[in-house]
Amino acid sequence: MAREVEILDTTLRDGRQNIRATISEPDMMELVRMLDDLGVQIIELGFPTRSSKDMDAFKDVRNFGLRNSKISAFGMTRRKEFSVDKDPNLACLVETQAEVVTIFGKTDPLHVTAELGAKPEENLEMIYESIDFLKRKAHVKQVIFDAEHFFKGFRRDRNYAMDCLRTAESAGASPLVLCDTDGGTMTTPLKETVEYVVKGFKESGVPIGIHVHNDCGLAVANTLAAVEAGVTHIQGTINGVGERTGNADLMEVIPNLELKMGYVTVKSRDLTKLKSISDAASVLLHLPVRKDRPYVGDDATATKAGTHSKHPEMYLHFRPEAVGNVMKLYGSEMSGRHNFITKAKQFGIDLSMDEAGSVMRSVKRKSRMGYQFEKADANLYIVMLESKNDWVDPFNVTSCEIASAWQGKERPVSYGLVAMDIDSTTEGFVEFGKGPVNSFDKALRRCIVKTYPEISNMELTDFYVDVVDISKGTKSRVRANVKISVNGSPWSAQGLSYNILKASGEALVTGYKACLEYLRRS
Ligand SMILES: [Zn+2]
Repeated sequence: MAREVEILDTTLRDGRQNIRATISEPDMMELVRMLDDLGVQIIELGFPTRSSKDMDAFKDVRNFGLRNSKISAFGMTRRKEFSVDKDPNLACLVETQAEVVTIFGKTDPLHVTAELGAKPEENLEMIYESIDFLKRKAHVKQVIFDAEHFFKGFRRDRNYAMDCLRTAESAGASPLVLCDTDGGTMTTPLKETVEYVVKGFKESGVPIGIHVHNDCGLAVANTLAAVEAGVTHIQGTINGVGERTGNADLMEVIPNLELKMGYVTVKSRDLTKLKSISDAASVLLHLPVRKDRPYVGDDATATKAGTHSKHPEMYLHFRPEAVGNVMKLYGSEMSGRHNFITKAKQFGIDLSMDEAGSVMRSVKRKSRMGYQFEKADANLYIVMLESKNDWVDPFNVTSCEIASAWQGKERPVSYGLVAMDIDSTTEGFVEFGKGPVNSFDKALRRCIVKTYPEISNMELTDFYVDVVDISKGTKSRVRANVKISVNGSPWSAQGLSYNILKASGEALVTGYKACLEYLRRS
């Protein structure tokens, strides 16, 4: 029988420690849905003590009706100066109502004395009491103990490090997770340490887990070695995103365990979801989509046409379809077209090979201008329908004015004016708002709502601009990005201009047009 390994995804907690990563609360929820669909056993949603956004996320997720995943809150053992019932961090963890709580505690005696200013035995009390306190809460079904800097602690004083684990176990924690918090442990000593711990807890049967960072480029290798040494619970992030050089990359760990080592991981057993999760996570966290990633990257299967053209599959170690990827021949039009045909199906559009070729040319041309189609569903949707000569503008903006004016220290007054041809009439409105883009958005919606009342169900959930050609300073072109939620499903759209207001207006108009047309057709 295949051995099972439980996955805890910590993208939304440890992953967000990456200094470049940012994510809105609605986008956190989108990622949760994808992880639940994949069937990750536990999703660590956040660090509620650190952020009120995290606390909101815990509230929202309660109404989700997750099918596969349990939600975990993350926090530390009680502080030295507080009793458990007065400790603000533990109170926050309880307030999340999460059924799983992951508590991290110190296991290295040097960290205990130097950082906590506590005696080693005081730290054991803090571990025991914190876990015991949480276990007594009716809604808490499971407390996971993350043994911080375990491998360092084990090297310094293995008896004390093991005492910390035994204390956590006796308070009811499960699993006990060995953390290589600074990512500095080499694979062989890490595996030997894990074997020692697994042996030490063999009789009690409490599961052992692993959480490693990638500071020596070994996070995936160390995670797999720990599994071979007997851990049955692993923690990691999508694309390995995380603090410094990141965490163990679940997009590599999962296929390696499943396809190479004969383990069973996620509940859906459907690894074809991996590529879309990997791509989506980069976009949602506002990080670049890296194409050269193992298994799930666009270039993971790219072979230069001509070199291996007869039997490209003979030069790959895996079937791309197994993780939702496709065989890509470098410089080949065919694979590019197939990608667009697959993507179009998700929109409910059937593209012929010729139409896919036209989409590909259009996307290439616009990408050179600065559009990023992986972040612009709405723009892509319109290009696809145009390639079939099947696109009709639901409205046509004929005039716009977006402005902000102020004098001295006065609060700026912003307004947006929009006129449009819509449903064989003309509409025009001026609206005031909280800034120029909001004013324009309000005027735009007011023009549309009479003809398309469904616009009321469209909610703007994200808006930001970035610079296309950074070196040109204020003379740069900007890319405006909006995200619109339509009955709960998100659409992204982009606009591009030297004028920040025009770019923002274009992104909004493109987003609303695509969403209205999609609703009309579905
Ligand atoms: Zn970590």
